[in-house]
Amino acid sequence: LIQLAIPLNFIGFVYREIRQGLTDIEHMFDLLDVQAEVVDKPDAKELMIDKGAISFTDVHFAYDPARPILKGISIDVPAGKTVAVVGPSGAGKSTLSRLLYRFYDVQGGSITVDGQDVRDVTQKSLRAVIGMVPQDTVLFNDTIAYNIRYGRIEASDSDVEAAAEAAQIADFIRSLPEGFRAMVGERGLKLSGGEKQRVAIARTILKAPPILILDEATSALDTKTEQEIQAALDIVSRNRTTLVIAHRLSTVIHADEIIVLKDGVIAERGTHGELIDRDGLYASMWSRQREATQAEEQLKRVRESD
Ligand code: ATP
Repeated sequence: LIQLAIPLNFIGFVYREIRQGLTDIEHMFDLLDVQAEVVDKPDAKELMIDKGAISFTDVHFAYDPARPILKGISIDVPAGKTVAVVGPSGAGKSTLSRLLYRFYDVQGGSITVDGQDVRDVTQKSLRAVIGMVPQDTVLFNDTIAYNIRYGRIEASDSDVEAAAEAAQIADFIRSLPEGFRAMVGERGLKLSGGEKQRVAIARTILKAPPILILDEATSALDTKTEQEIQAALDIVSRNRTTLVIAHRLSTVIHADEIIVLKDGVIAERGTHGELIDRDGLYASMWSRQREATQAEEQLKRVRESD
């Protein structure tokens, strides 16, 4: 029994790691042949997507019953609009995206897409309409073209190139000796965090889903990379229902609504202008981040003049 318990334990570990990373999970499940924790109801229906409106209603969730993470969260993301979630580290921002993608089920309240509870539909049909740009993309050990085409297997070479163009990664790919045929992943070319994220954006542009979840990388990016990624994200989120899990406030200024999450509840909500006028938590996060950016820029100028 012990001999069996160790590999099972290992599979459990791998499964938790994968789920945490929000990466190509279905593919990985196929590889590992592991049963997911969340299972479809026997009478689960296909999600009937209309315009892709999302509602979180009084959502409660805890990974560990002794430590509630979300305590009654209600958020509406109207079809085609962008809602950004900000807040201190560990506030539960990414947890919201994991619940929408249904890696876990809510323990109270509900999440609906176009009025259908995510627990009543098949996971396959739910995930088919959601494009996820995770914090950290795991690439397949294959060509860069394959990694982009994974968003829509039947896409032509010119579709793949157009998606790379829109994701601001085409010039970089063309600069590689083997171009789109360059091997990436663990056994190939190692891409930076920003490059991997743009491959994920290109993949999502090809998939063209009605709903998008953008989980920004926490890692610091240089200003140029950040601007390129922002430009790519603006293209992909245009006219799509978008939930942004934001770590940098510069990316949320244009959101239709900003939700400030703290200690499991919504501390503030409104547009950037409304929240600045309110002079509360968001306004203080904003001024702190601006000071940090200004200090960084000053430091850079001093270094450059040396
Ligand atoms: P950050 O800005 O640092 O990414 P976040 O607001 O996105 O943080 P979450 O990733 O949603 O935070 O995590 C919320 C809390 O839940 C954290 O305290 C985290 O430690 C905890 N948590 C996250 N995943 C798990 C898990 N699989 N098991 C147990 N606790 C978890």
